[in-house]
Amino acid sequence: MATAIHIHPSVDNGIKPTAAGFAGGTLVCQCATDPVKVKVSAQTAFNHACGCTKCWKPAGSVFSVVAVVSRDKVEVTEHGEKLKTVDSAAAIQRHACTRCGAHMYGRIENKDHPFYGMDFVHTELSREEGWSAPEFAAFVSSIIESGAKPEQMGAVRDRLRELGLEPYDCLSPPLMDAISTHVAKRTGVLAA
Ligand SMILES: [Zn+2]
Ligand SMILES: [Zn+2]
Repeated sequence: MATAIHIHPSVDNGIKPTAAGFAGGTLVCQCATDPVKVKVSAQTAFNHACGCTKCWKPAGSVFSVVAVVSRDKVEVTEHGEKLKTVDSAAAIQRHACTRCGAHMYGRIENKDHPFYGMDFVHTELSREEGWSAPEFAAFVSSIIESGAKPEQMGAVRDRLRELGLEPYDCLSPPLMDAISTHVAKRTGVLAA
């Protein structure tokens, strides 16, 4: 019996399905008192496990689970004064609770960025169920940078496939295609 491979608490026991007609909910940080609340008034998309070192993860996880939603559907409703940008030089500006550390939303301010207009959110911070289910795993090789052993990677990728999360070492092909399409349109290679 192989050691259980831990991916993320929200997927380790199987993936919760997307609910038809789900229209959003409220993300709540992990502070016991005066939590930051962020209202997301739409279903999310492109939910995925991410192995990069920048995404916020629960303690003991090397993967985050992160989705996108249109930035005009994201609104800080309580205790926004506790939020601070983790790294203002990063392409995605992650707004984190200064008390508990949870990233409440990540926003792209560069209008030329392929994903401008999309905010990145962790729907595990919401009590509502029915958010878009994770579809794939991105930046899988990067978990080595967070301490995963290189020799575990085969088992990690096997476990991801078993969960239905195809592992990629960058983003998924549709998202990589979207990035290149954006660049090709900007440079004039493709008609805009
Ligand atoms: Zn907090
Ligand atoms: Zn990430």
